[in-house]
Amino acid sequence: MASERDIAFPILSDQDLAALQIRGKLRQVRAGEVLYEEGERNHSFFVVLDGAVEAVEHSRGTPHPLVVHRHGNFSGDIDLFTGRRLLVTGRVIEDGTVLELSTEDLRRAVDQLPELGAIIIKAFIQRRQLILNDGFQGVKLIGSRFSPEAYRLRDFATRNAIPFRWIDLETDQEAEALLRQLDVPASATPILIGRNGEYHSRPSLEDFGACAGLTAALEPEHVYDLVIVGSGPAGLAAAVYAASEGLDVLVADSMAAGGQAGTSMRIENYLGFPAGISGAELTQNALMQAQRFGATVSVPTTVRSLGMDGGDRVLTLTDGTRLRTRCVLIASGVEYRKLNVPHFNQFEGAGIYYAATEMEARLCRGEEVVVFGAGNSAGQAVVYLSGRDRCSHVHLVMRGDDLGKSMSRYLVDRIEGLENVTVHPNTQITGLQGDGHLGVVELEDKEGRRRTIDTSALFLLIGADPKTEWLRNCVELDKKGFVLTGRSLSPEVAGNERWHAAGRSPFLLETSIPGIFAAGDVRSGSTKRVAAAVGEGAITVSFVHAHIGRAV
Ligand SMILES: Cc1cc2nc3c(=O)[nH]c(=O)nc-3n(C[C@H](O)[C@H](O)[C@H](O)COP(=O)(O)OP(=O)(O)OC[C@H]3O[C@@H](n4cnc5c(N)ncnc54)[C@H](O)[C@@H]3O)c2cc1C
Repeated sequence: MASERDIAFPILSDQDLAALQIRGKLRQVRAGEVLYEEGERNHSFFVVLDGAVEAVEHSRGTPHPLVVHRHGNFSGDIDLFTGRRLLVTGRVIEDGTVLELSTEDLRRAVDQLPELGAIIIKAFIQRRQLILNDGFQGVKLIGSRFSPEAYRLRDFATRNAIPFRWIDLETDQEAEALLRQLDVPASATPILIGRNGEYHSRPSLEDFGACAGLTAALEPEHVYDLVIVGSGPAGLAAAVYAASEGLDVLVADSMAAGGQAGTSMRIENYLGFPAGISGAELTQNALMQAQRFGATVSVPTTVRSLGMDGGDRVLTLTDGTRLRTRCVLIASGVEYRKLNVPHFNQFEGAGIYYAATEMEARLCRGEEVVVFGAGNSAGQAVVYLSGRDRCSHVHLVMRGDDLGKSMSRYLVDRIEGLENVTVHPNTQITGLQGDGHLGVVELEDKEGRRRTIDTSALFLLIGADPKTEWLRNCVELDKKGFVLTGRSLSPEVAGNERWHAAGRSPFLLETSIPGIFAAGDVRSGSTKRVAAAVGEGAITVSFVHAHIGRAV
């Protein structure tokens, strides 16, 4: 079986090299020449024909050699497609000849030569994994593990696969030395230190995105074919199909590609993955697929409002940037519900979590924790957190009396077989206590019996509300705020002047305004599943073609 390194650094066959040669240009190179450098974006892809190129990274302050590329090896990793800044420098160490392809040439080659394309893409994904496992340090983040602000930044970095080193204010001696060096007090944390030593005190997600080279350059004067708001499964599926079918597509997300699905430890019911797949892996692969086909993805980019200007739809971002587009896909999903108990806000990110991923599990390893909810996401969290080397005990608290009413049978069976799980039916959370960080959860059952659980972690998985505040006074919403589409629109709306002018009725996933579509969890009546969101995202693209075809 091929090792991880074999997959990451394959040797291309003579046939593959010949196929690439007609798509690129030959270049003679001399020892000492730098072909690509850390921090650059949109650089070329190089294949070594003879001579040698060494890949080195400097994230630890000193050069760290990663690999030497020789005949048949090639440079690059996923950032060739994402447009993010490079993590590695490539320097020629033996004179020779390389083949150079621009990012566009490479995209075309991957499309036209699928077998070779698969080798290159697998290598890129594997390289990113190897570099992270090999101690790459990326940007540094200094903060307290009890700080909600620091938690939000760590969550953002983890979900966006930004290599970063966490330096704990309370336990890491380096923290104090670094603060002294920067001449800033501990109260200025969290502090983000970039690759050139520049630092931000209490950075916003936008500062973090810019510092890590994540945010795409947007084109306010440009008219896109399709702007997708939200990069959960619905948005990513639409991006893959739209970009692969030649549409000019931009995806904006305020937090991270993957949406809710990206926070799921294991999705077991998605077609084609008999052993399940982690949400992060599924959605990172989808992100790369969309970018490989040429979709632009911008994170963190929050859309504040949607309106019309002449024939275009106009999206206004929180920084005031206005984007023009012929069609919009609303794929902004839902937001987790919160608890109405005193001091709740104080513990968000400081003991209250909305997902149970490896990061949260690490924060409460060996401890008793509470999961509140009775749906599949609560069930998955319980199974995951109660696993070996994770939490010592998991309390599943639910308002109802029967797990089977709201949770899939396979999860109920698994939970019933777990010794370190206690189910508390007919129970509410009535209070939270703690000093800066959650310490105690107060419970009360239907009979009025009260008890407390000492815990530093409460996982809230009690459903979600639509993220449609940015759509008020624009498209029609149902009573709960979900977006109405197709046949759920009232006959008055579906037959109004707009639709007369368009000369048709709304398509299945079209909102009350022609050319504005909605897919996934945000849509009224949708099935809240990954596969359903993916299906709706994909279907939307055929409606986009139909709308554009009629509108021109
Ligand atoms: C923990 C967990 C586990 C789950 N497990 C499963 C499972 O095993 N199987 C299954 O089928 N389903 C599962 N689900 C449900 C599934 O993940 C959702 O149905 C699916 O993610 C919905 O996709 P979506 O694209 O519609 O929206 P979402 O995934 O909610 O994505 C919406 C995106 O829009 C972005 N956004 C919102 N507002 C704005 C704005 N104004 N500007 C820019 N961006 C914005 C958000 O940041 C988010 O990334 C799980 C959900 C959770 C929370």
